[in-house]
Amino acid sequence: MRVAIISDIHSNLQALTAVLRSIGTRKVDAIYCLGDIVGYGADPATCVELVRKECKASVRGNHDQAVALDHGLDWLPKDARKAAIHNRLALSDAQLEFLGRLEYTHVGDGFTFVHASPKNPHQWTRVESLHVALDQFEAFDTEICFMGHTHLPAVLSDKMGVLRVREGNRYLINVGSVGQPRDHDPRASYGVFDSDSFHYELVRVPYDVEGAIDRIKSERLPRRLGKRLRVGE
Ligand code: ZN
Repeated sequence: MRVAIISDIHSNLQALTAVLRSIGTRKVDAIYCLGDIVGYGADPATCVELVRKECKASVRGNHDQAVALDHGLDWLPKDARKAAIHNRLALSDAQLEFLGRLEYTHVGDGFTFVHASPKNPHQWTRVESLHVALDQFEAFDTEICFMGHTHLPAVLSDKMGVLRVREGNRYLINVGSVGQPRDHDPRASYGVFDSDSFHYELVRVPYDVEGAIDRIKSERLPRRLGKRLRVGE
């Protein structure tokens, strides 16, 4: 089985469209979404509709929760808070209800999917150090747990010295961000995993960054949210 995993779309329709087009050429059996469908960007409604239509399941991100339920809105940086309020007003009641009902963790097709971390997913822990990563492996039962949240692609193994994804080890895989990459590569990011060959690929897709920035400008969202897309931070 081949699955594509997308995360942290952040209302960036230009990036999401390019990623879905790229996934379309790869003959995957299912697409999963790791949350933060909304927040930061200018086109939340169309992004929510596309995820609902294209993805087999999606989990809840902290921005989805802030936009739909007001939970954690005060914890977001000022720019993000402004965008969250803008996004809320741009979504229909049905779209807000969809976001508000997303589950924290989803297990399907032999994988675990979570936004931030499998251990206490509602705490939005950033899995950025070895110490925090090793602490996560007891919190899921599958061989692989896919996650997002930091917008930084990474493959972490439960054993030291494992340099590539291969059978016999367990992995936490961060697929990076579709709509707001932060690893200084502005191209949209997503993952493809083939469970027959146990092969993982991180895919980067160029998209219409200037189009996304123009939309942020025309929605009068903070300019910085557009500028950061150009440099991938
Ligand atoms: Zn995010």
